[in-house]
Amino acid sequence: MYNIKENLHKVLADLPEGVRLVAVSKFHPVEELMAAYEEGQRIFGESHEQELKLKHQALPDDIEWHFIGHLQTNKVKYIAPYISMIDAVDSMKLLREINKQAQKNNRVIKVLLELHIAEEETKYGLTLDACRELLEAGEWRELKNVQICGLMMMASYVDDQEQIRQEMMMAANFYDEVKTRFFADDVHFCERSWGMSHDYPIAVQCHSTMVRVGTTIFGPRVY
Ligand SMILES: *Cc1c(COP(=O)(O)O)cnc(C)c1O
Repeated sequence: MYNIKENLHKVLADLPEGVRLVAVSKFHPVEELMAAYEEGQRIFGESHEQELKLKHQALPDDIEWHFIGHLQTNKVKYIAPYISMIDAVDSMKLLREINKQAQKNNRVIKVLLELHIAEEETKYGLTLDACRELLEAGEWRELKNVQICGLMMMASYVDDQEQIRQEMMMAANFYDEVKTRFFADDVHFCERSWGMSHDYPIAVQCHSTMVRVGTTIFGPRVY
C-alpha cells in the first residue's frame, strides 16, 4: 500500500500555519481514509454523493466532509444532513437549493463559490464577471441557511508554473476585491481554496488557505 501516513505528514510539513488540508479521498477505500484519520486528519473531500454516503456511515463522526466536485441540484438533499462544506458552488440555483435543504435539516451549510479562471474548457465555475453579478444581485444575503465562506478554483492542468501562478494570483486578487466589497464585516468569509497535488506549493505562495490534495497522499485513483 501507498505510505499514506508518511505522505500525509510530508504534505502537512509543506503547509504554513493557517493553511488547512482537505485530504481528497475520492475513489479510495475507507481503510485508507482511516490511516489518515489516525494521524489526525479530520477534513476529507469527496465528489460523489453515493460514495460519500457510505464513507460517512463507516467512518468516525468528527470528520468534516467537504463536497469538492460538481454537485447536481437534485443531489443536495442527500448530503444536506451532514455535509460540512460544499466547495464548488457555481450558480444561484444551486445556492438556493442548498439553502432550502439546509433549512429542512435545521442547519447552516458552509459553501465556497467556484471561479472559472483556467483557460481549459470546462462547464463549471463562475467567471469573475458572473461572480460579481451574483454577489451584486444580493439575493444570497437572504439565504439564512448558507454561509459563503470564500472562493475556490482549479488552475489549468499545465506544466507552466508561471501560468498556474498567474491564475491563482488572479483568484487571490479577486478574493480581495470581493472581500472588501461584499464581506468586509463578515469574519466567516476568509477561505481561498486552491492547490492540488501538482500545484499546492504554488498555491500556498498565492494566499491559499485550504489546499485539496489527493494523489500525493493516497496514490493514483483507480476509476
Ligand atoms: C480530485 C480533486 C482534487 C485532488 O486532486 P489531486 O490531483 O489528486 O490532488 C482537488 N480538487 C478537486 C475539485 C478535485 O476534484
